[in-house]
Amino acid sequence: MPELPEVETLRRDLSRSLIGRRFVRVDRRLPKVFVTPTGLDAQELVAKTVLALRRRAKFLIFDLSDELALVFHLRLAGQLVHRAADGATLAEGGHPVPAFGAPLPHKSTHLVFHFDDASTLYLTDIRQFGRVWLLPSEAVDPFLARARLGPEPLDPEFTVDILAERLARRPRAPLKPLLLDQTFLGGVGNIYADEIIFASRLGPGTRAGEVDRAGIERLHSAIRSVLEFAVREGVAQVLNGKVLPGRDFPRVHGRAGQPCPTCTAPIVKSRFGGRGTYTCPCCQPSADDARSSHA
Ligand SMILES: [Zn+2]
Repeated sequence: MPELPEVETLRRDLSRSLIGRRFVRVDRRLPKVFVTPTGLDAQELVAKTVLALRRRAKFLIFDLSDELALVFHLRLAGQLVHRAADGATLAEGGHPVPAFGAPLPHKSTHLVFHFDDASTLYLTDIRQFGRVWLLPSEAVDPFLARARLGPEPLDPEFTVDILAERLARRPRAPLKPLLLDQTFLGGVGNIYADEIIFASRLGPGTRAGEVDRAGIERLHSAIRSVLEFAVREGVAQVLNGKVLPGRDFPRVHGRAGQPCPTCTAPIVKSRFGGRGTYTCPCCQPSADDARSSHA
């Protein structure tokens, strides 16, 4: 699933290729993907210019001319690729299937945006859960507010004290599902949750109320450092639950049986809260609540 680093990287790359471009046509190949909750017509996009791209948690927002906005959520498997008129890729990101560089449109390409320079933006999604909302600008903030998103982890306002306060409100909650809960913290998904918990030397089943102040400081620092690293150095490359060979990152997720980068004990895969979860049995407390399947 595209998480904060994937969406942020995409935002930066698409900002370079899309700002200033004007829409000339929209092909809605799978109409349900393109949502117009306030009754706007998709044709309203024609002749509008992309002014800015911003991100909130895993939402990517295009601010357009004439007080319009497009809000994207890639959900489990959405992918965006922007190609120039000659077919060269200008920007790409999101889910790695179909492979980047594959001919487009793919049979799972559900939306195609055509621009004034004859470039094309493709939304492809093999699972069909991704969505794009066309909204008046003034409707964007209320729309995002309805998602009740937690703090933005890379925002300076997200301090150790804020994290401590939020953990204290949910003392019985185990850490991993808490990190995945978008109302607790915006933008973290399954891959980075494993990486953050590993870097904190806590366990996926550690209850929020059991983490002491030093643990909260480690957790806060890990949230920042793991996400910043991924945004800066390139996002996690994981395909079908396995890290692509030749990469050091992610360090534990997708590495069942491989040596822990800290202590060399084999990384264990279990199921926790229904999600594939990777931990080091030596560096991290055992998750008593995790039903280990070693699948
Ligand atoms: Zn270890």
